[in-house]
Amino acid sequence: MKTKQSTKFIHSASPVQHISVGDITVEVTRKRVKNVNLRVGADGHVRASAPARVPLSEIERFVASREPWIRAHLARVATRQQAEAAVGSAGSTVFHWGKPYTLAVVEAGPREKERVTVVGEALVMSVRPAHTGDDEVARAHREKLLSTWQRAELEQVLPGLVAHYGARMGRTPRTVRIRRMTSRWGSCNTRTGAITINLALVEYEPACLEGVIVHELCHLFEANHGPRFYALMDRYFPSWPEARAQLKVRPLRRHALT
Ligand SMILES: [Zn+2]
Repeated sequence: MKTKQSTKFIHSASPVQHISVGDITVEVTRKRVKNVNLRVGADGHVRASAPARVPLSEIERFVASREPWIRAHLARVATRQQAEAAVGSAGSTVFHWGKPYTLAVVEAGPREKERVTVVGEALVMSVRPAHTGDDEVARAHREKLLSTWQRAELEQVLPGLVAHYGARMGRTPRTVRIRRMTSRWGSCNTRTGAITINLALVEYEPACLEGVIVHELCHLFEANHGPRFYALMDRYFPSWPEARAQLKVRPLRRHALT
């Protein structure tokens, strides 16, 4: 029998065999299964289960054909492990929908995109090696990456909420914009029918965003904060005092990362 040099047999009597794809070792277990199954564990081990009748060479060919898939999974495991190691060292806190997350900065793999992901109680920023440092350029870069992610998170829910309350109140804004503002949570241009929502609302309890949306929609009826304005607030968002109190827990900041 001809064996490739990369193929290693360890304990030939044991039901566990090992094959290699480049630098990746795959543990092969013979089981009562119909097909060859491949999986990458959270520990970074690659395991395959295969029926007893399938020759090892065939399993090896199959595993080799799935190499890109294996590598993608291993990269994800590595990011997670790096994140877990980074958390607790230099992590600042970033709030997301009212919950605190520890910020972790990790190096993105060579073919990975820079991105932000929630991993348990950490907000993991995978960035190019040049952007992991503490210098001003790297920090500004991460600030921008975080803002882009926050905007995408807000954009996922904002149109639906505006449509929901707009339908109930019988008036919808002509345009809805998102901006990071330092002095107010939202604004309404009664002349153009445009409302602007502060990007920072993504850092607070979801009820805060709803309260601000309803507040700005009320301005489409009432320009000022008179009794009629608050009668509308009471009608369409009765828990506005609680939402407003939540917004006072943490003051508005110029940047998400400080
Ligand atoms: Zn107002």
